[in-house]
This record gives sequence, C-alpha cells and structure tokens, in this order.
Amino acid sequence: MTYVADAGRYDGRQPYNRVGRSGMKLPAVSLGLWHNFGDDKPFETQRAILRRAFDLGVTHFDLANNYGPPYGAAETNFGRHLREDFSGYRDELVISTKAGYDMWPGPYGEWGSRKYLLSSLDRSLERMGLDYVDIFYSHRFDPETPLEETMGALDQAVRSGRALYAGISSYSPEQTERAARILREMGTPLLIHQPSYSMLNRWIEDGLLDVLEREGVGCIAFSPLAQGMLTDRYLGGVPEGSRASQRRFLTPEMLTEETMRRIRTLHEIAASRSQSLAQMALAWALRDRRVTSVLVGASSVRQLEDNVRAVENLSFTEQELAAIDGHAVE
Ligand code: NDP
Repeated sequence: MTYVADAGRYDGRQPYNRVGRSGMKLPAVSLGLWHNFGDDKPFETQRAILRRAFDLGVTHFDLANNYGPPYGAAETNFGRHLREDFSGYRDELVISTKAGYDMWPGPYGEWGSRKYLLSSLDRSLERMGLDYVDIFYSHRFDPETPLEETMGALDQAVRSGRALYAGISSYSPEQTERAARILREMGTPLLIHQPSYSMLNRWIEDGLLDVLEREGVGCIAFSPLAQGMLTDRYLGGVPEGSRASQRRFLTPEMLTEETMRRIRTLHEIAASRSQSLAQMALAWALRDRRVTSVLVGASSVRQLEDNVRAVENLSFTEQELAAIDGHAVE
C-alpha cells in the first residue's frame, strides 16, 4: 500500500535539537541502519521500522558504505525504501553516510585518502539513488594520511554538492580539534562528531565534549544502548536471533556476571522512574545538552517505539544520577 506519512509526525513526538552552532537540527532520537537493514532481514520488517520511525518524528537515518550484510546492502535497500515510500519526503529527511572502514579490496578501499572517500561517496549515492547526502563522515581517523587530505575530501564533497555537511566519527579530542580547525580554514565548518557513548562507555566525557562545545560542533552518540545490553534483551539469557546470539560485534562473553549485575541494578532504577531500561539509557545520554541526538538501532517496530518514547522523561534527580554513576562501568 502506498505510504502516506502520519500528519501528526511533528506534533511534539520528538524534540529537535540544534547541532552545535549550525543551522541544522536533529531529532533527539535518530535511527541507524548498521544492523537489521542488510539482505539478511526481511524487506517488509525494514519497511515497517522506517515508516514507523518517520511517523514518530524521526527524521534522521544514518548509514555507512559497508553496512549490510553484504557491504553496501543497507544503502541499496534504503535506496529502494526511499523510492517506494519516501520519494515525496526527501526534503524532510537527513540522510548520512560514511567512509573509512574496509569497503573494497586493494589500497584504495579503506581509511582516509581523498581517492577512497570521494569514490566511496559516489558509490553510496548510486546505491541510494540520491543526488546528495545531508552529512558525509570520515568514519575513522587515518594515522597515515595527512588530516588536511581527509578533511579536504570532506570539503570537496560539500563544495561539489554531493553532501550538505561534513562530519567525523570516533576521532580523539586532539584529532577533533585539528579537524575542526582545518575545515574552518577551508570554509566548510565541521557539523558533527559521531562517537560511541552510553552508561557503559563514557570516554567522551574526558575531553571530547569540551572540544565539541568550544568548536560549536554537534554530537550524535552511537550505540547508546551498548548494542542492546542496556535494555531488557539479555535479562533472562541470550535470546535466539539477538545480536549477541549472532556474535556480530556483541558476544555472549561480553555479558559477564558483573556486567549483568550492573544491568539489573540499572533496570531497577529505570523501573522506579516508570521507564524501560532502554528509555532511561537514552534519556541519560541526552542529559548533557552537548549531546544533540542518540543514534539507536532497532530490530523491530516494538523496539523502535520503546526507544522513541525515551523523550517523554528526560530529566533526572541528583539521586538518580548518583545511583546510576554508582553502578556504571568506566
Ligand atoms: P544500540 O546501542 O541502540 O543497539 C541496538 C540494538 O539493541 C538493536 O539491534 C537491538 O538488538 C537492541 N535494542 C534496541 N532497542 C531495544 C529495545 N527497546 N529493547 C530491547 N532491545 C533493544 O545501537 P547500535 O549498536 O545498533 O548502533 C546504532 C547506530 O549507530 C548504527 O546503526 C549506526 O548507524 C551507528 N554506529 C556507528 C558507528 C561508527 O563507527 N560511527 C559504530 C556503530 C554504530 P537485537 O538485534 O538483539 O534485537
């Protein structure tokens, strides 16, 4: 059936936060297509998740060249969803992609050269059937390529109209500071940084957020649910079909007794706030106003709906924060 977006999608279902000191805003909860949008997932499930997300005010979808499986498949599938469901809504969508990790064989298929970044972006645009993406990211810092070259490729992507904004992912505070300066000098401001961040992984509190604030750069936190650990997914063991059961980046061995004890405690704190653990984990990551958006994954419509409702309670008491800190792992 032809998709018609819910007319109420902008009636306060999502707050839209300004990205650093730019003109761009992002929904508090954004959706990532790293898992669950490759050729291993039914197209209809993907479609239902994307439609529901947009109906709930989620305007930002995050991809990368190698999301799948196989590599490229998430972009190809997303391109079909765009054509079939969202072609009338392109101007309401913020679509991002990245290059930096392993994509094709040979010396030009990964890291941060101009050769790789610009050819990869062209292939991403072809797969998605787009003229431009909204944000193009350097997916990781390349220690062997001059940062001026990598940032020059982002600048070129923007100047050539293939991207509207430039972003970086998982750069250290020092690398971020340099990247922001180089891009500013080139006349293409750095819009956003995409780091990992969750109650179980707090590295960005040690310098990166300060750099981003100073530079006026936004922050979109990936894996804010620690790949599903900060949800009710594993409270009763490792369910079949879950990410941990598939051993794709998350493994049952990572669910140690100690981690599970912490997760259970956090689950109780969430219950005392009348939230699911997932909702509390997302609200917690958003408690710092420098975090523009949390970038979640979802394998079902139910998970997506659970996550989006995090915005219904974003405030924490001092006692709650202290209780969470007492049980968070550094
Ligand atoms: P999350 O931490 O949100 O984990 C998502 C997984 O958690 C889901 O696939 C699902 O697992 C489970 N889950 C989600 N919501 C719920 C819920 N309400 N209840 C129970 N379980 C739930 O994020 P991801 O690790 O998926 O990363 C999100 C996005 O961030 C990616 O899609 C990508 O866009 C980006 N990213 C960027 C990286 C980078 O280097 N820049 C690296 C990693 C991610 P299950 O499948 O078991 O159901």
